[in-house]
Amino acid sequence: GSNIGIIGGGQLGRMLAMAAARLGYRTIILEPQENCPAAQVANRQIVAAYDDTQALAELARECAVITYEFENVPVAAAVQVSASSQVFPSARALEVSQDRLTEKIFLNSVGLKTAAYRPVDSDADLESGLAAFGGNGVLKTRRLGYDGKGQIMFRQSAKPPVQGAYASLGSVPLILESLVDFEREISVIAARAADGALAAFDPAENVHKNGILYRSTVPAAISERTAAAARNAAFSILRALGYVGVIGVEFFVLRDGGLAVNEIAPRVHNSGHWTEAACALSQFEQHIRAIAGLPLGDCARHSDCVMENLIGDEVERAEELLAEPRLVLHLYGKAEARPGRKMGHFTRLARHSG
Ligand code: ATP
Ligand code: MG
Ligand code: MG
Repeated sequence: GSNIGIIGGGQLGRMLAMAAARLGYRTIILEPQENCPAAQVANRQIVAAYDDTQALAELARECAVITYEFENVPVAAAVQVSASSQVFPSARALEVSQDRLTEKIFLNSVGLKTAAYRPVDSDADLESGLAAFGGNGVLKTRRLGYDGKGQIMFRQSAKPPVQGAYASLGSVPLILESLVDFEREISVIAARAADGALAAFDPAENVHKNGILYRSTVPAAISERTAAAARNAAFSILRALGYVGVIGVEFFVLRDGGLAVNEIAPRVHNSGHWTEAACALSQFEQHIRAIAGLPLGDCARHSDCVMENLIGDEVERAEELLAEPRLVLHLYGKAEARPGRKMGHFTRLARHSG
């Protein structure tokens, strides 16, 4: 029927459910946590773990199309529901992007540049890797990291101890990346439909604070050539994966205007939230269109804009922000404003710079 299943019940699931509702779909979310942000908007919640085979079978029975709102959905869950429902993006897209090592191997295989990298499974691997990268690098868990969690930065100038670093990140498989001397960071939110049609929103320029996205500005201060290269890189990724849906691609812009891909997210992306305010079509609607087999929409922007996240008790600014004209506020309905928790975001619109 016209049910869309969403695995994961956070704010991205909530915004996907809102977009689906506007297009006339019912949504069913699978999420273990009751009263999650998406539960307030979706038509129904199946309260169960993401790898609960019975719950997944129920979701698949009721939904011809299933998507997910975060990249740590177990691949086995996507594979299970793929047997009877359409799952977009595919289990393969999920698998490639879940592990920073397979992700980089994939990106390089389609001709895209990344930071240099080495797998690290001991302090000794870290020591030799850092030596190879001139004493600088970013050590990351290969899986499950987000918002800069599970990372240690090593600089020649400020080097945390190498002894014990592997254990301090949980003795799990790690990757050491060379430290990229970037000029700025940008991201592209792009989409591919099942028939191969491609579309991309304008690149956003992103600033992070304490590892968490703080602000996205559009347009980014980059040349048209760099913007086109970023768009084309995103399209190469979508084509190579036979991808259906919206993807977020994060880039480092190098000092010479060249690009290196930082990471990809097989889902709607925080740095694309501005699209709900500065475009006629949001990334959320674009994703629902792609997975539901509807034509992709036009990504054109009617305004310049700046999106900022409201993290933790910054959500207390909501009322004051509402007083501003040309400001679009979006709150996620989370009861408790814990430090570091994304509570909402807002987008300030400005006249289109042309
Ligand atoms: P997200 O919430 O975006 O998924 P994450 O935990 O996956 O975050 P990354 O995107 O890998 O983290 O890194 C977070 C930020 O740290 C980057 O946006 C960038 O500012 C910085 N960073 C990460 N890797 C490198 C690198 N190799 N060189 C320089 N800076 C880096
Ligand atoms: Mg990430
Ligand atoms: Mg990132």
